[in-house]
Amino acid sequence: MATCPRCKGPLTDAHRCPRSRVSVAAQDVALGLGGGIAGLIVLALADPGGHAADMDLFAFGAGALLVPGAARTFRGR
Ligand SMILES: [Zn+2]
Repeated sequence: MATCPRCKGPLTDAHRCPRSRVSVAAQDVALGLGGGIAGLIVLALADPGGHAADMDLFAFGAGALLVPGAARTFRGR
């Protein structure tokens, strides 16, 4: 069986090179940042007066954890 010149995997008709770990990790970081920012926006919308200022880090962390996890679920991994 032929091997793929790019990823060295078996070159079947349906072959697609798996994305590199670096790009997957970079995407997770980007998703985490986006999720964190989304968490802050949700917090700001839910608490317009800013009474829950000490929730910022929690909101950022929750978004940063949830969004990449959800994206991974949608991608089926
Ligand atoms: Zn390949």
